[in-house]
Amino acid sequence: MKIVFIRLNMFEHISSDAMKPILFAIIRELTPQAHEIEFLDERAESLPERIDADLIAFSVETYTAKRAYILAKRYKTPQNRIVMGGFHAAVMADEMLQYADTVLVGDAEGTWPQLLADCENGCPKRKYISDETAEPLSPAPHPEIYRHRYAGIGVHQLSRGCKFNCDFCSIKTMYRCVRQKAPETVAAELRAAKEKIIFFADDNLFYNRESALAMLRAIAPLRKKWACQISMDAAHDDALLDEMKRAGCFLVLMGFESLTPDSLREMHKSANAASDYEAVIRNIYRHGLLIYGTFVLGYDGDTKDVFQNTLDFAVRNHITITNFNPLIPMPGTPVYQRMQEQGRLLYRKWWLSDKYRYGDTAYRPRNMSPDELREGCLYMRTEFYSLRCILRRLLGNPLHLKPVNLMIYLLANIISAKEIRAKQGQLLGGLLHEADAD
Ligand code: SF4
Repeated sequence: MKIVFIRLNMFEHISSDAMKPILFAIIRELTPQAHEIEFLDERAESLPERIDADLIAFSVETYTAKRAYILAKRYKTPQNRIVMGGFHAAVMADEMLQYADTVLVGDAEGTWPQLLADCENGCPKRKYISDETAEPLSPAPHPEIYRHRYAGIGVHQLSRGCKFNCDFCSIKTMYRCVRQKAPETVAAELRAAKEKIIFFADDNLFYNRESALAMLRAIAPLRKKWACQISMDAAHDDALLDEMKRAGCFLVLMGFESLTPDSLREMHKSANAASDYEAVIRNIYRHGLLIYGTFVLGYDGDTKDVFQNTLDFAVRNHITITNFNPLIPMPGTPVYQRMQEQGRLLYRKWWLSDKYRYGDTAYRPRNMSPDELREGCLYMRTEFYSLRCILRRLLGNPLHLKPVNLMIYLLANIISAKEIRAKQGQLLGGLLHEADAD
């Protein structure tokens, strides 16, 4: 069979922050050599008008669902098979089946090989559902399948899934169990990788402290520089932070989410409860690590002063980069269900709407209007990445002035500022022109 596997973009513009898709490596490992497979990454290239293949597969997130449906209509022929999987399939499989011949629900490991075997035997099904499993993950070395230069950052993974269950996060809709790779497998992948800079795609690298520590010790001699996502409990762990620094870590991505206690409680962000955020930040800096902080605005505890207060906090603490996100009710999450029950959703399906634009609010916040939430988040992003603020945070944090960090700081801030301007207000995916678009 000839297979084309596509990673989608939210919009029709080429991203300047696209990283190597780890999913391509996983799919390559799961696809028997007898098949011809090509990977297209819409975040890094324009897609062709037509694709000549037996099977065209899309990995779909809620943000890219409309794009997937538009492209499915463009590429569908009587001879080919359109396949969709990914996070959106975990909660919206029936919606997808209006546009796809087959939908894969759950892990690719539990569905993709079976689909290919059934296609070979002439009996593909409409829906495949992966069994929940905590089986160890297989190695996924990055083969030479990439047509693009991805800014020299390798993407790897020790575990998949998360031990927490935050109210707004869709991770539990896809992965109920956490799956892990053997630490030495990850070390072998990194040893074979030509990139000197690595991003760990784990939602929390320290799901299992012992195996993460074993991996840190195995990768330390490789002298790679790397970044990862951690939860706030790890930020109190001095022994762990020491090992991370020794193993080459230069930046941690951490969800602060909110400074408002009521909002934090509503989010069920248990790892953040009772943490003194400023002490946490000081401790991470003390270990020589930079911070990428993420925030969610618009929970019911937030009033209109939340924007300025949160911005002041991020600037006062000289955080390296941030993401200020308006709360988006993702289908399948507790917050989506709550908003639906309370009649507060502004669209029947915001991800399919031909009116909803990136950065818009999709529900009625309690203490402000939807427009105030959108404008408040845009104000924070614009201010944080203004030249004046970039310089203030640079000069206010001695860590940013170290030679390698300086380059990282400037690049990360310039790319973030550019991406905000490119994305804000863009229509998701293009026009679907369907009856189900509100
Ligand atoms: S800690 Fe992060 S990945 Fe885990 S559930 Fe919360 S937001 Fe999602």
